[in-house]
Amino acid sequence: MKKALITGIAGQDGSYLAEYLLELGYEVWGIVRREPTSSCWLQPVISRVEFAYGDLRDAESLAVAFRKAWPDEVYNLAAQVFVPTSWEWPAETFDINAGGLARLLQIVERQKPDTRVYQASTSEMFGNHDGLCNEQTPLYPTSPYGTSKVAAHRLAAVYRGRGLFAAGGILFNHESPRRGPEMVTRKITRAAARWARGDRTKLKLGNLQARRDWGFAGDYVKAMHAMLQRPSPQDYVVGTGISHSVAEFVEAVVAELRRLCRPQDVPSSLEEWVEVDPQFMRPGEIHNLRADTTLAHKDLGWRPAVSFENLVRMMVEADLAAVRASKAAAGDK
Ligand code: NDP
Ligand code: GDP
Repeated sequence: MKKALITGIAGQDGSYLAEYLLELGYEVWGIVRREPTSSCWLQPVISRVEFAYGDLRDAESLAVAFRKAWPDEVYNLAAQVFVPTSWEWPAETFDINAGGLARLLQIVERQKPDTRVYQASTSEMFGNHDGLCNEQTPLYPTSPYGTSKVAAHRLAAVYRGRGLFAAGGILFNHESPRRGPEMVTRKITRAAARWARGDRTKLKLGNLQARRDWGFAGDYVKAMHAMLQRPSPQDYVVGTGISHSVAEFVEAVVAELRRLCRPQDVPSSLEEWVEVDPQFMRPGEIHNLRADTTLAHKDLGWRPAVSFENLVRMMVEADLAAVRASKAAAGDK
């Protein structure tokens, strides 16, 4: 039985990856900072995963977790993931996102160099590039987050040059009902669900014209696993190839509300619901990101299964159900 160790297992990708690897018959270990029962996304797998406490800033905790798990594969998904936070705490973002991988790679090289390592790289590394981005596209990040991820991505390549199996998955934005509530898609679907249940608070957003290549996280974790099954390590771009604007995401959410809710529970216009608030505008905004996934199709046989429309549907339905459940629990039916 193969053994995998996942950092960031309590997050969106970590929880989907744990489910997928368990389905494939892996023994799964996860590094957590808090009691695993405090993560709702881990509940479906909690009894089948082994946990170790650790923090990417603390080498000893990682070494102990690694020795316990003794993994064939490490998936380094833990990170400070939010771009605006990376401007507030640039040094901490570097310590976690780049320093964390440095600590892990040193442990792997010293303790068990045949362990294969997946590094969660990101399309934010590209910055503002016109057109589709592939594995050769130059990296010009525009935020401390993007720069910390470039440092980690390059470090993975350096260790690859020393003989380790280290692959960087350059993943474009991927969402789900488990997406962090600070990210724009989930911020919108949660606000939509609250509106539909009677809360008339306006949704304050920043740049509505920004475009992202949004896919479904459950599809993307399969590409992570496939990268570590290749004969030799390499970086891969993973995305859908299609971008939508934030405004288009909002419109798709409203269309879902119309399908699912009574007319009086749906905003009658975008102006009624959405307000542009300068505090959510970004320095170094990345205006458009689109993936060229030719290599992932060819080598990994990977293609996204969930469309943009179905992703929006899944997220709206989940957030409506969550608001309904919390209102029912509060006795407000
Ligand atoms: P989440 O925010 O959902 O999960 C991140 C996880 O990292 C959380 O479980 C968090 O733990 C953990 N974490 C944060 N800091 C530390 C630390 N110092 N030590 C240990 N664990 C820590 O992110 P996603 O699942 O969406 O993203 C997974 C990875 O993929 C990240 O590296 C991200 O940068 C990268 N990525 C994501 C994309 C996306 O669109 N989702 C796109 C491209 C790359 P806790 O629960 O304790 O807070
Ligand atoms: P990112 O691509 O990893 O930074 O993911 P986000 O979901 O945080 O942001 C995606 C895009 O949405 C960026 O271009 C943001 O500028 C834009 N955006 C517009 N309004 C908001 C907002 O209120 N919150 C967030 N998080 N992003 C917003």
